[in-house]
Amino acid sequence: MSKPVLVVGAGPVGLIMAAELARYRVPVRLVDKAPGRTDQSRALAVWARTLELLEVAGCADAFVATGLHAKAVGIHSDGKVLARVTFATITSPFNYLLMIPQSETERLLEAHLRDLGGTVERGIELTDFVDKGDGVSCTLTHAGGKSETMEAAWLIGCDGAHSFVRRRLGLAFEGDTLPTGFIIADVHVAGLAIKPDELAIFWHPEGAVVFFPISPDRYRIIADIGSAPLHAPTLQEVQAIVDRRGPGGITLSNPVWLSDFGVNERTVRNYRAGRVFLAGDAAHIHSPAGGQGMNMGMQDAFNLAWKLALVERHEASPTLLDSYSIERSAVARQILSDSGRMTRIVLLRSRLARLLRGFIVRGIFSIPMIRRAAANRLSGVRIEYPDSPLNTGSARGLRGPRPGQRFTTACTMSTSNLPRFTLVARDDEQARAMIARHSSLLKPELCQPAGNGIWLVRPDGYVMARAHDGNWPVIETALAGMAAHTSLSGRT
Ligand SMILES: Cc1cc2nc3c(=O)[nH]c(=O)nc-3n(C[C@H](O)[C@H](O)[C@H](O)COP(=O)(O)OP(=O)(O)OC[C@H]3O[C@@H](n4cnc5c(N)ncnc54)[C@H](O)[C@@H]3O)c2cc1C
Repeated sequence: MSKPVLVVGAGPVGLIMAAELARYRVPVRLVDKAPGRTDQSRALAVWARTLELLEVAGCADAFVATGLHAKAVGIHSDGKVLARVTFATITSPFNYLLMIPQSETERLLEAHLRDLGGTVERGIELTDFVDKGDGVSCTLTHAGGKSETMEAAWLIGCDGAHSFVRRRLGLAFEGDTLPTGFIIADVHVAGLAIKPDELAIFWHPEGAVVFFPISPDRYRIIADIGSAPLHAPTLQEVQAIVDRRGPGGITLSNPVWLSDFGVNERTVRNYRAGRVFLAGDAAHIHSPAGGQGMNMGMQDAFNLAWKLALVERHEASPTLLDSYSIERSAVARQILSDSGRMTRIVLLRSRLARLLRGFIVRGIFSIPMIRRAAANRLSGVRIEYPDSPLNTGSARGLRGPRPGQRFTTACTMSTSNLPRFTLVARDDEQARAMIARHSSLLKPELCQPAGNGIWLVRPDGYVMARAHDGNWPVIETALAGMAAHTSLSGRT
């Protein structure tokens, strides 16, 4: 039997990583040093692209049924609505923002992992590892003090912002810490005259206060506190901030969670060192503005899992794994820059800057196209891999997604327990012959194209190759590129 993959850290990223590997029948162990799941609500927002990927993984229904479907976000200032962006224009079957506490996300992911035959081994800490070239020798320290040596095929560090794996590899976590702190409160809110399924941002000369709905009368409140020392606030402090910066008439009660946080914007350059990978907060952290952190981390896991599965199943060359860091680090850089810009806009203090901000925001968000673009960008459906080394063909003049872009239809989003590409092509002899020739890589069923072309769609729903109808060599080249060297290199 082949050595298992070791996933370290059972936060949302490690859980979905282990579940995806288990779905693809790759032996996997998932360990976490903590004795139990987090009971903190932390990340609330699950965006459309993540839900699409959870759908393919086979567990989106439970999320959709559990979370609150937020329909819009409004920016308010001086008693007026400066901008209102609705999520209905998101080009996805999940055209809303799912609000679900991270503790619930982790509970649902753990149940999904269990359904796939996996489990979380808690109270086990990774305390050392050595990459031996043909595997990784890992030292695991159990809660009682027992030490275990585990030989893993690959090690994936999903061990959060203070990642031991990243530090042991000596990888620099490059970036900055913002000079502003924030307070966070999950509380019962009465008197907020905003629809219960809308996010509301209130700008005030002193700072911002943001309301995120969690359930009909419960909200997450976040407010910036400038350079004041970080401290968990009392309910009275949060109430005072809301009274000053909010619309008035609001009463807070029943706090479930009162906390504080600082904002770091940091990332590693390379998410891979030999047989060791980083994913999630271990590889990138940034401002929570835009609610992207957990989404980005879970999408790292989806990106890596199918590639690792193909390599472990000897169905693709290990060089396929090089695309993981190239693709995902580019996305992280983009999101770090977006969320950093959003945070700095919220933190503007001078009167002139605030006046200009109000003027510009009101102006640009009065344009429907800008509102649509903003909603789609936040939702993750615009994420693409234009510079992926996997992209093949381009077929100028052809309508439909290009290589590196997302291709989602009910057909391409169907769940498979094998890491398989989808062929989108007219049902003819050549298409059938292609599937027969590459049965270890392609799903047996074809998807019908809307236009006059052929698409090869990756297991994570991004186009790998596109060609004009009949130009089969493009698809052949892309598939041959997957398998290149497998017979020679085997497991390297
Ligand atoms: C206060 C707060 C509010 C936030 N709000 C949002 C939000 O609104 N939206 C959003 O998208 N994100 C938000 N985030 C960020 C979000 O929580 C993270 O992006 C997300 O948790 C990252 O998941 P992860 O699995 O990468 O890491 P984590 O959730 O940090 O999980 C890492 C796991 O690794 C384990 N571990 C660490 N070292 C070891 C080791 N050596 N051996 C074994 N196990 C180990 C830890 O015990 C932990 O369980 C927030 C974070 C905080 C703190």
